[in-house]
Amino acid sequence: MMAQYLEIKEAHADALLFYRMGDFYEMFFDDAVNAAVALDIALTKRGKHNGDDIPMCGVPVHSAEGYLLTLIRKGFRVAVCEQMESPAEAKKRGSKSVVKRDVVRLVTPGTLTEDALLEARRHNFLAAYAEIRDEAALAWADISTGAFHVMPLTSVRLSPELARLAPSELIVADGSEQTLHETTRDLGISLTPVSRASFDSTAAEKRICGLFHVGALDAFGSFGRAEVSAMGALIDYLEITQKGKLPLLQTPMKDSEDRVVQIDAATRRNLELTRSLSGGRAGSLLSVVDRTVTPGGARLLEQRLSSPSRALDVIHARLDAVAFAVEDSLTASDLRDALRKTPDLDRALSRLSLERGGPRDLAAIRNGLAQAAAIAALCDNQELPVLLATAVQNLVGFDDLLALLDAALVAEPPLLARDGGFIAPGFDSELDEARTLRDEGRSVIAGFQKKYADHTGISSLKIKHNNVLGYFIETTATHAEKMLNPPLSETFIHRQTTANQVRFTTVELSEIETRILNAGNLALEIEKRLYQRLSDEILAMAARLNQAARGLAELDLTTSLADLARGENWCRPRVDASCAFNVEGGRHPVVEHALRQQDGDAFIANDCDLSANGGAAIWLLTGPNMAGKSTFLRQNALIALLAQMGSYVPAEQAHIGIVSQLFSRVGASDDLARGRSTFMVEMVETAAILNQADDRALVILDEIGRGTATYDGLSIAWATLEHLHAANKCRALFATHYHELTALAGKLEGVENATVAVKEWDGEVIFLHEVHKGAADRSYGVQVAQLAGLPASVVTRARTVLNQLEKTEREGGKQKALIDDLPLFSAAPPPPPSAPEASPVTDMLKDVLPDELTPREALDLIYKLKEAA
Ligand code: ADP
Repeated sequence: MMAQYLEIKEAHADALLFYRMGDFYEMFFDDAVNAAVALDIALTKRGKHNGDDIPMCGVPVHSAEGYLLTLIRKGFRVAVCEQMESPAEAKKRGSKSVVKRDVVRLVTPGTLTEDALLEARRHNFLAAYAEIRDEAALAWADISTGAFHVMPLTSVRLSPELARLAPSELIVADGSEQTLHETTRDLGISLTPVSRASFDSTAAEKRICGLFHVGALDAFGSFGRAEVSAMGALIDYLEITQKGKLPLLQTPMKDSEDRVVQIDAATRRNLELTRSLSGGRAGSLLSVVDRTVTPGGARLLEQRLSSPSRALDVIHARLDAVAFAVEDSLTASDLRDALRKTPDLDRALSRLSLERGGPRDLAAIRNGLAQAAAIAALCDNQELPVLLATAVQNLVGFDDLLALLDAALVAEPPLLARDGGFIAPGFDSELDEARTLRDEGRSVIAGFQKKYADHTGISSLKIKHNNVLGYFIETTATHAEKMLNPPLSETFIHRQTTANQVRFTTVELSEIETRILNAGNLALEIEKRLYQRLSDEILAMAARLNQAARGLAELDLTTSLADLARGENWCRPRVDASCAFNVEGGRHPVVEHALRQQDGDAFIANDCDLSANGGAAIWLLTGPNMAGKSTFLRQNALIALLAQMGSYVPAEQAHIGIVSQLFSRVGASDDLARGRSTFMVEMVETAAILNQADDRALVILDEIGRGTATYDGLSIAWATLEHLHAANKCRALFATHYHELTALAGKLEGVENATVAVKEWDGEVIFLHEVHKGAADRSYGVQVAQLAGLPASVVTRARTVLNQLEKTEREGGKQKALIDDLPLFSAAPPPPPSAPEASPVTDMLKDVLPDELTPREALDLIYKLKEAA
């Protein structure tokens, strides 16, 4: 056995080998040592190899999924090796034969299909990146839904595209992984190098044609060498990991870079589109806009949010659909009730295609189609906008399949086909007959118990069943004596004696048992056959079923966005080909949500008008920390993004000329994990924007230059602003605490000052969160520091230094003199306000008891005080 193990292991050196032995998957040697730590299970040993103990650990087959998930999450790949015959079959070949085993599947992050291993509401993409000479391409597929895409790109676009798609695994040609380590690690993508042969484009073409049964690739569009290579490598990898059983991939969809808004990884992170800065879903834009009720709808939402469109017709079609659902809320809410009951068609289908499905997947298709028909009926006679009409069309035409599944399946089938019991009575007469025989047999046996009890006079006698003996008669040792002796021993044949019980059988009982067994086995055989037939019927319609699933997802997404728009009072944005950017009463959906949750103040809506008449349109935003600058910047980026994904937006009114690229940067964010100085990161990212932003870009820069010395920072911010204005000529929001920059607004056309208003009250600041045109007069840093609880002595000292600095600057003096002019810092708290000096008025007031004064006396007193003062 060890020889067999080692041979199989050698072929899968880069994976943990799950070696099936009976009811366990066992691991040996280093695999065992690593897995025991990763899974926190006991490490034992078994036998010796070259004189040393062999470390071993194992997991039960029935709970293997959970362990698999943990291992995959921890970055392992797992080769699942099954027994390909029963021990009995092996024995037939020779008494010493080892059971045949083979790896049936390689489990990797990108090739999961089990519900337990997948997040229902997220795609699970496997991607392949190919480079051929100066061409490059990315192909990606979700084998749990069948989606398959490819896109040519330039190598600099790889990282942003990976950030957009967030695949769980990326395959690349051996040797090219070095350059991608950092990107994939930052994005949490598992990087898998495969042999260069996998990427060979000639072999790839054959592979793709073979998979889709076409003679030439032209059937799907025209593809460059790199695209073919990437798709081919992806299919090859699936063949290897699925051991030849290919999932149902849809025909490849060709995407292109210019169809979606380009958003790079830093911007996505910064805007917290699908993940918040702390890493989770909570606090992200996705988490507050997601009102979908099906997994398919949720996956579509994440996809749309990650890839807002640049095509006006696409955006308008989506907005028309949402508008319809907003206005016709009655139909929409019925639709949502029906959608809520729809199972995940895509994933059930994919499991069936990989032969990893069960009766519940058949039932999921049945229930899904039944709901689809009901939903289509709801929409009958409605004037639907194009997008919804197409979606509804895709839901119908499954009557025959639905009728078949309805007739064939019981309402709630069991998980496994193996045990039978999922085919409904009345569907197959042969099956019904076998089941009747089996069940009759069982009732005959129940009758036997009474008969035998009467016959022996032992009323406690029982007929029981177990897997070893089959049916047997059981009685206690005291009563057994009688049955072990004639005349009863002629009928009752002794089988087994346990501590307290003695077990018998009879000829009659064995005969009935054989009949039950045969009938039972026959029933199972028939059910298995029927399972296959139903599965085949479903798979024959796979492509159309995928479309139906897509239709359901579209309906879910549309009605969920409408629900959001109504509930949150969002408006339909006007999106066109102009260069406008005019938002009235805009809000930040996530901050607003958070404020509401904390029962805090209401969110203050703000306008933003960057409408450019050709050339740049830039707002230079100043204001103290905590005033709401970052919030304002981000909310406008999010509004553009929501509008272009086809959603209503959190504003009273919005007019947005198509945005092609979205950039967002925050000065000196901490990035210690990557071991770069924060300032370096800030500059690298700013460089990327200045080099890439075109005149349709929307750029958001928050405190650029903050990460270095004042004059350096100011100069960099200054030059950056000028470059955006003169070279990029784009729409931009630029928040800064360098007040010196506000002077630029007067010089550069298209640059305007704006500020977030604050009120000063009793030496403290009150944040109004209102954005106005104009520059902030000062930064209120000292007041904010005071609010934050800096010791009073430090606040006072800071005020003194500030006053002196301002005075020096006003008088054009040299900074150097400052140090000498300033009185020394004193850690003692500032003296308490001194007691008011004694005066006749205070003397008079000392003895007054206001509670005891009548209004008349009070008035008289005031006259007297006035006189004395
Ligand atoms: P800044 O970037 O100016 O330092 P932030 O944008 O981080 O300020 O905002 C600070 C806090 O002020 C936010 O966490 C939020 O609670 C609150 N805030 C910001 N904008 C608004 C607004 N428009 N209405 C209400 N509260 C706001």
